[in-house]
Amino acid sequence: MSGTETGSGTAGPGGSPGRRRPLGAGTGAAGPGDPVPSAARSGPAPAASASASATSTAVTGIAVLVTNDPALGEGPLGLVRNAAVVLDGERVAWAGPSRRAPAADTRVDAAGRAAVPGFVDSHSHLVFDGDRTEEFNARMSGRPYAAGGIRTTVAATRAATDERLHANVARYVAEALRQGTTVIETKSGYGLATDQEARALRIAAAHTDEVTFLGAHIVPPEYADDPAGYVGLVTGPMLDACAPHARWIDVFCERGAFDGDQARAVLTAGAARGLVPRVHANQLSYGPGVRLAVELGAASADHCTHLTDEDVDALAQGETVATLLPGAEFSTRAAWPDARRLLDAGVTVALSTDCNPGSSFTSSMPFCIALAVRDMGMTPDEALWAATAGGAAALRRTDTGRITPGARGDLVLLDAPSPVHLAYRPGVPLVSAVWRRGERVH
Ligand SMILES: [Zn+2]
Repeated sequence: MSGTETGSGTAGPGGSPGRRRPLGAGTGAAGPGDPVPSAARSGPAPAASASASATSTAVTGIAVLVTNDPALGEGPLGLVRNAAVVLDGERVAWAGPSRRAPAADTRVDAAGRAAVPGFVDSHSHLVFDGDRTEEFNARMSGRPYAAGGIRTTVAATRAATDERLHANVARYVAEALRQGTTVIETKSGYGLATDQEARALRIAAAHTDEVTFLGAHIVPPEYADDPAGYVGLVTGPMLDACAPHARWIDVFCERGAFDGDQARAVLTAGAARGLVPRVHANQLSYGPGVRLAVELGAASADHCTHLTDEDVDALAQGETVATLLPGAEFSTRAAWPDARRLLDAGVTVALSTDCNPGSSFTSSMPFCIALAVRDMGMTPDEALWAATAGGAAALRRTDTGRITPGARGDLVLLDAPSPVHLAYRPGVPLVSAVWRRGERVH
C-alpha cells in the first residue's frame, strides 16, 4: 500500500540512502534538508538529546502519536499510544512510549490529546491579489467553472504592489499554520509576464522554500492570438528570469490552457534548467497530463480527477505522486477524484488544498482530509497519511511529514483523543498547538 512505500526506510536521522535534498530556493540556514543539528546527526539514541546548547522540549501524555514510521509503531501510520516526543533544536530527537522518554529541558503535557506530523500542503497559489467572491457566488448559482476566471486574478495581481503581495502570502501562510500546516508549497502563475512572474517567485521564496514556476498557468490576454508565442516566452526569457527563484516547474495541462505538446515543451525546458516538473493534470477533463507527468518523471500529477485505466496504470508503475485537491471539487461542485481507485492500484496519493482565489479558497488541510474521507473513498488513516507523508513525498522530502528521530520538529497537537477526529469532527478547529522546526508557533 502507498503508506509503507515512502513511510519506511528513513527511521535513521538523515542518513538514509533514499534521502533527497532539495534543489535550491533555500532561503538560508534553515532551508529544508539542511544539515541536521549534531544532536540528531549522531544517531537515534535518546542520549543525543542531552547535547549542550540547544533547548529540548518533551511533549508527553500524548494519547495517540502518528509517526508515519512503521518501524516506530502500529501500521502504516506508525501509531504509538501513551506516547512522548522530544524536540531538540529544529529536529525530533526522540519519539516513543512516554514511560521511556528521555529527559528534556522543558516539558509540555498533551493531557491525552492526539499528535500528528505537521501537514504538508504541496499545492497552493498564494501570490495573488483581488477578490473573486462574486464569481464563486455566481457559480454556486449555476454557472459552470471555466479556466478563464484566472484572468481576473492576473489583472489584480499585476496591479498590486510588492508589499501588498507579501502581506497576502504572509496572511495565508499564517492562516495555514494555525491549522497545522508546517510546510507549504506555492506557485507563481498570476503574473504571466516575465518581470511579473519573477516578482511573484521572489515574493513566494520569502515565505516558503517550496516555490514553483507556473508561467504556463493560462495564456494571458496579450497572447490570445499567439499561444505558441507565449510558450516561446515561458520556455525562453521568462524561464531565464524565473529559474533562479524556483525549485519546481508546473503547467496547467487542460483544455483552455495548454495542450500536451505545449506542456511537454514547458516541462522539458524547465527540467533543462534544473527545475523538477509537477503538472496540473486531468482536472476538468480527460487528457494527456497524467501520462506526460509520469513519462517526464514529475514529482506529482495534481488533481487527477478524470483518469482512464491507462492513466491509473501509469501512475502505479511510475514514481509520480497523485496529488488530490478536493477543495477544488468542493468549490466548483465538480465530481470527486476517485482516491480509492488510485490507492487500490498502489498509487502514492497526497492531499493538498490548492488554495487559490478562484477554485479552492481554503487553506485547511483538516477540511481536505474530511472531504477525502467522506467523498473520495479514503479511510481516515489513508487521508491523514496523504496529508502529511504523502505531501512530503509529492515534494520529494523525507525530512518532514513524519515524527521520527532526525526529522524536522513539525508537530501538531489535536484537541481530540484520536486523529480520526480530523474527519469525524469536520469544520471544528481541532488544532491546539503547532511546532515548526522545533519551535512552538501556535
Ligand atoms: Zn493549482
